[in-house]
Parts: sequence; structure tokens; C-alpha cells
Amino acid sequence: MLHQRLVDALGADAVKTAPEDLRAYSFDAYTQGRLPSAVVLPSNTREVSAIVKIARDCGEPVVPRGAGTGLCGGAVPVDGGIVVSFTRMNRVLAYEPARRRACVQPGLINLDLSQTAGRDGLFYAPDPSSQRISTIGGNIATNAGGPHCLSYGTTMNHVLALEIVDDCGEVFMTDIDRPGYDLTAAFVGSEGTLGLVTAAWVRLMRLPESVRVWPATFPDVESASDAVSAIIAAGIVPTALEMMDAIATRAVEAAFAAGYPTDAGAVLLIEHAGLEDDMNGYESEIARIVRDHGANSWRAARSQAERDALWAGRKGAAGAMGRIAPNYYLQDVCVRRSVLPQALHAIERIAHDYKLTMANVFHAGDGNLHPMICYDKRDIKQVTAVIESGNEILRMAIDLGGTVSGEHGIGFEKREAMTQIYTTQDLAAMANVREVFDPRRAFNPEKIFPVGVRCAEVAPIA
Ligand SMILES: Cc1cc2nc3c(=O)[nH]c(=O)nc-3n(C[C@H](O)[C@H](O)[C@H](O)COP(=O)(O)OP(=O)(O)OC[C@H]3O[C@@H](n4cnc5c(N)ncnc54)[C@H](O)[C@@H]3O)c2cc1C
Repeated sequence: MLHQRLVDALGADAVKTAPEDLRAYSFDAYTQGRLPSAVVLPSNTREVSAIVKIARDCGEPVVPRGAGTGLCGGAVPVDGGIVVSFTRMNRVLAYEPARRRACVQPGLINLDLSQTAGRDGLFYAPDPSSQRISTIGGNIATNAGGPHCLSYGTTMNHVLALEIVDDCGEVFMTDIDRPGYDLTAAFVGSEGTLGLVTAAWVRLMRLPESVRVWPATFPDVESASDAVSAIIAAGIVPTALEMMDAIATRAVEAAFAAGYPTDAGAVLLIEHAGLEDDMNGYESEIARIVRDHGANSWRAARSQAERDALWAGRKGAAGAMGRIAPNYYLQDVCVRRSVLPQALHAIERIAHDYKLTMANVFHAGDGNLHPMICYDKRDIKQVTAVIESGNEILRMAIDLGGTVSGEHGIGFEKREAMTQIYTTQDLAAMANVREVFDPRRAFNPEKIFPVGVRCAEVAPIA
């Protein structure tokens, strides 16, 4: 009955129930979930609305899905249900360069929007390293960040209004320009648990007049971390301030030949953008700070091609981990910039204790660490060590006053850790919001909230 009703609403080509299709949609970049009852690929909001109504009638959960690049199990079905893949809803619905905004369907690939806007000297600022493949809808649902979010802000700073399909299959709009509750903010980062985003008005920014990129090398991660804090303390907010440790730099260079020196203890990739007249001043000030903090080398990338190569290496770092081991687990925690050296030391110790290789490639300016734990999943002992060491990194971040996710979200993976950073009352307030939008708890069940959470029933982990 479910299958036939979906086919009647969307056409046979948009409904998948063959076991091999269900399997393909039971994964994201983090893990595999249960097989869903069906996968649907709607083309417009009307079809999404029909899917939600059918799901409601049949008592099926609804699991929204963008490109499946999420790193916390957000898009995997944990409780069966209907996976709604938005990849066919990938059009720019309205493009208003004069007003610096566009309305897009959620399945549009992030980079495609900047490529469209680039012809008018505009771009879409949130740039997760997955931007060649991840979707605007997935980015909105996770409040995605990226290297350039240090100065431009995360996805939430660039979403103006959303079209939402609610739990009854009805359509409503949120709009930050109108008075009343800011429901747009409630939906950004809600990981598909409140409703389905079927269109988004997003902000476009003017491409900067001038961009400079400076790779700097340091003997160790401590001196590089101190330079990061000193740059910000000097009142300079570069557009990006990224760090790679020695293990990561060697893997990236082997994979991309991007131009990074392989004998450094740490590399900082510093980018600043703005008016050309201001650039020489920034360049000499940043050069002075990194030298004062022990940089071994410092240079300016001379051409666009050189800048592109450096960024391709940095953004492709996760793929380069294949040079170290067949598998990697990418952790995502956030600490204050001032405690970055302690956090990096702790990660080194944890790697040593568990006999694992951990490479660090991260958004240093935000204190957002991404230790990549390299392993071979055919070795069960290593798998256990990866899980335990990942948990230890989480605890370390919390102990340093940080948090359990910088940008990848909570999803299925980190929901139990929520009790370690929120009080019972905090979680109950969030659960209450969910109750309003999704009383049936049909949208993306088993995500964000720890097991057993209903309003005011959250028991903190001892
Ligand atoms: C190599 C690599 C690098 C990465 N780099 C970054 C990075 O720099 N910064 C960063 O933030 N993340 C990064 N990520 C993580 C991931 O790419 C982001 O979380 C991204 O936003 C997910 O987009 P997606 O289209 O793949 O969504 P999916 O993984 O398919 O889904 C993510 C979440 O969004 C929900 N969702 C999707 N579409 C909708 C919709 N239309 N309505 C409601 N909910 C929806 C899903 O249910 C799920 O909870 C990286 C991942 C990889 C593999």
C-alpha cells in the first residue's frame, strides 16, 4: 500500500524499494543505519507535501537526505521509514543579483550556487570542505561551517527565509525580515527534526576586490596555535585561518602536490580578503606576528593557480587520509583558541595510548578541531580503539570547556553526549520546540536527543 501510494503521487521513477537501492540510502559518510521502507526522490514542494501526508497515514517516519556527506549519521534511517532524497530538487528558483539574494531548492549543490553567482561578482559564503557535493538543504539542516566561516559566519548567517513542509504536509514560510518569532533560526541546525526544507532564500555576498593567501610553517603545533591567538588578539580577523599538523601535511602533499613543505611541525594557511589598498598593511602585520611566534617560513601565494592549489590540498585533506590507512573517523570538537595547544597535546597522547595515527586538519581560528583517526576497519581491535579514543577526545574537549560538535552536528552519533553539555532543563526546552513542530516525532527520529528524551525527562549522564 505504501509503495503504491507513493508511486501514484510521484511516478514509479521517483520511488525506490529494491533492496540494493534501500541499502545505498541507508549510509551517510559516518555510518550505516537500518534499511528504510522506501526511498523517494521528489521534484517539487507539492510532491514533498504528498509524501509527508502518505507517511502520516501509513505511520512511517520521514528521513530527509541531501548528498549524504554528513559525518554524524544525521541522514541515515535508524527506525526505518521513508528517506526523502532532495537531489532532484536542485534548481535555482529565483536569482536577484541586484538584491544579493537567491531562492534555491534544497538539493542544489553548495558550489553550484557560487558558480552561478560568480558571473555577477557574487558568491555564497558558507563553504564546507564538502561544498563540491553537499547540498544547501543539508548545509542548512546542519548549520554547516567551513574555512571561511571565521569571518563570514556559518550557514545561519546567510539564510534569509525558508519554505517548510510541516508534519501535516502543509507548507509555510519563515522570514527573518518580518516581525515575530525568528523561526528561520529554529530550523537552521535542526537536522531535519522539525520539518522539511523545500526552498531557501539565501544571502549572496560581493566577491572581494583582493584576496591574499599566506602559508606559514612552524616547528610545532604550539607555536602555530599561539600565532593564531595573536593574530586575532591584534584585531585582525582573517577570512580563513586553517592549521594542518605534520602527519596531515605529509599526506596532503603526497596526494595533491599542493606546495606545502613536508618538513614542518605545523602549517598555517592564512587568507585575507578585502580592498587591495589595505592588503599590504595586513600582510606586513600578519608576517610580523607569525615571525614573532617562531614561524620557520612565510610567503605569499603569487597567483590564483597557487592559491587554488593550496586550498585544493586543504579542502581535500580528508581524502588524502587514504595515504595513511584504508579508513578514517573524523571527530569534530570545539575549544577556545587559547587552549588549542592543550587540546592538541591531549589528542597526541590519546593517539599514543591507543596506538593509532591521528592527523589534525582544522579550523584553528574557530578552535574547531578535526582529528582524523586513521585505521583499518577489518581489524576489530582497531575499530574498538577508534570508538574509545573518539569518546576520549569528546571528554577532553568538554573538560577544556569546549563542546562536542563544532559544525558537523549531533545526528545519531553524538546524541548521548548532549547530556554532558546541556542541563535537563536545556534539553527539555529543545524537546518542547520539537513537540510543537513534530508531535508525532516522525521527522528524523532518534537524532539529536538522547535516548528516552521527552519533555522534562532528560536524565544527565553521571
Ligand atoms: C570530506 C568531508 C568534508 C566535510 N567538511 C565539512 C566542513 O568543512 N564543514 C561542515 O560543516 N561540514 C563538513 N562536512 C560534513 C557535511 O558535508 C555537512 O554536514 C553537510 O552540511 C551535509 O550536507 P549533505 O547535503 O550531504 O546532507 P546530508 O548528509 O544528506 O544530511 C545532513 C542532515 O541534514 C538533513 N537534511 C538534508 N536535507 C534536508 C532538507 N531539505 N530538509 C531538512 N533536513 C534536511 C538530514 O536529515 C541530516 O540530518 C564534511 C564532510 C565530508 C565527507
